[in-house]
Amino acid sequence: MSGGTAAAAQEYVRYSWRLGEAKVACHIAALPFSILKPGTSLGSTLRITKSVVQFLAEVYIGQKAALLADYQAAQRRLLLLDYDGTLVPFQKLPSLAVPNNELLQVLAELSKDETNEITVISGRDNDTLQKWLGHLPVTLVAEHGAFIRYKNEDWQAQVSQSNEWKEKIRPLLKLFVTRCAGSFIEEKKNTIAWHYRNTDPDLGFVRSRELRNSLLQLTTNTALQVIDGNRVIEVRLIGIDKGATASKIFEHFSPDFSLCLGDDATDEDMFRILRDKGHTIKIGNGTTAAQYTLWSQSDVLPFLRRLLQPAASANSTTDSLLHSSL
Ligand SMILES: [Mg+2]
Repeated sequence: MSGGTAAAAQEYVRYSWRLGEAKVACHIAALPFSILKPGTSLGSTLRITKSVVQFLAEVYIGQKAALLADYQAAQRRLLLLDYDGTLVPFQKLPSLAVPNNELLQVLAELSKDETNEITVISGRDNDTLQKWLGHLPVTLVAEHGAFIRYKNEDWQAQVSQSNEWKEKIRPLLKLFVTRCAGSFIEEKKNTIAWHYRNTDPDLGFVRSRELRNSLLQLTTNTALQVIDGNRVIEVRLIGIDKGATASKIFEHFSPDFSLCLGDDATDEDMFRILRDKGHTIKIGNGTTAAQYTLWSQSDVLPFLRRLLQPAASANSTTDSLLHSSL
């Protein structure tokens, strides 16, 4: 087998696999890349044979080529990008996840191409998104769709209901802050959330299950929904989710190519809505409705950068970059 084929197989495992092959790929991806070679034993359940590597390489090469070809051929592209855990790594406090220069540069370059409509779709509040990304010619979605700022326009509230419901939820969240050291409440205009990222992992998880159950009881037969996110439990009005919002944005731009990236439970709503309309990619491990997976948040910017490469050089440059990183 050629070195190029092995590298492509490794890249396939690292960047992209179809759900139907996830079991095989996860087995392989959980290992250091250096031992991904024919004949490596993975215990009793799987043995990487030359044919497995060859198969993954061929599937990967086909997928990558198809995605890049779709991108290059499109006349109007929509990129829907989640923020935390996708464009930036998680931080101990949400306020610390400031975009770095590399991210700002990639977003600026992508949005410079008039064929592209870049949308950052986040659970963040609109003031923060405006402060961090407001200078860019991109569409911004705050609080999962409660506020939208279309490119070169002003923010528009999409919700007109009152927020009295938060008075009923807040005391329960405060109680759980006292019961779980390191947890804290984040309150936005249309959502209220309890974060347990900085707690003792075992206690945080136990408390999060208790809180979730209590909230589910409290919100039964109301217009509220409880979201079990990445180390955060969030309450918000039903109907304001990334799926409904992604659908609205998609209709607004009517793209012939769409690419959607996200890492969290809230992004699954987008994946379900958009998976038949374009390319959907989950960041990180776990069950997903997305078509593909990127293994780690640190893979996201390199992945977006390759979209900026001219069509003819996209494959070769990517492969040489990959070789150097292995
Ligand atoms: Mg996220």
